[in-house]
Amino acid sequence: APGLTLVATPIGNLGDLSARALATLRGADAVLCEDTRVTGAMLARHGVSVTMVPLHEHNEDDQTPKVLARLRGGARIALVSDAGTPLVSDPGYRLVRAAIAEGLAVHAVPGPNAAVMALTLSGLPPHPFLFLGFLPPRAGPRAAEVARLRAIERAGLSAAVIFYEAPHRLADTLAALAEELGADRPAAVARELTKRFEEVRRGSLSALAAHYAGAEARGEICIVIGPAPEERGSAEELETRLRDALAAG
Ligand code: SAM
Repeated sequence: APGLTLVATPIGNLGDLSARALATLRGADAVLCEDTRVTGAMLARHGVSVTMVPLHEHNEDDQTPKVLARLRGGARIALVSDAGTPLVSDPGYRLVRAAIAEGLAVHAVPGPNAAVMALTLSGLPPHPFLFLGFLPPRAGPRAAEVARLRAIERAGLSAAVIFYEAPHRLADTLAALAEELGADRPAAVARELTKRFEEVRRGSLSALAAHYAGAEARGEICIVIGPAPEERGSAEELETRLRDALAAG
């Protein structure tokens, strides 16, 4: 259909590109993608030849007016990211917001997403869940973000929590989470989902931290933490906690 279509692509296994995703990409006047080499290789594997236009963090604001002009003219534009669902820890939100503001058609072809797949394989209670994307890379802001999560939990939120993480930071992050959220807190590390070396390791935060401190993790990783045990308290205690959480931002 004419308009902007957000197309989810595989997170590893190329067989996960859906029939509708393939048809949408084939029929597009242009495919906006983060990296034309990554998307070009994926399209080539499926025998699709289509015009690709880079759209990434650094040019999204420049590209947006050009894309909107084409959409106004009735073009069929697809948006993909390197892997998985566009906009989820990936570019595209500013373009989508601008298209919606102009009343232009926005569609999506749903498909793979690492966070949801990790959640469903974690064996942890899946509902409700909180997806926090990547923690900040620097130690100070990371510790502050984990403390903020703890404050939210103390205010009464009991949800599974999902993060994306880079392999070289995994052990440190698990140790920091164990320290702040409790060594016994159940968790899971999902690695290389849909790929040859897919692995889901389940255990307490401290056991997982110990495991990955000893063996350097490789590949792409999601961390899932089980919901905080409900901390029941008096109305007064809850109010104090809520105030603390608000003060912590
Ligand atoms: N938009 C993507 C999605 O829908 O999953 C996520 C993009 S984000 C930039 C990339 C991060 O997602 C990786 O660093 C990793 O944390 C996680 N990820 C992506 N593919 C994965 C996989 N096959 N297994 C585990 N985690 C994955």
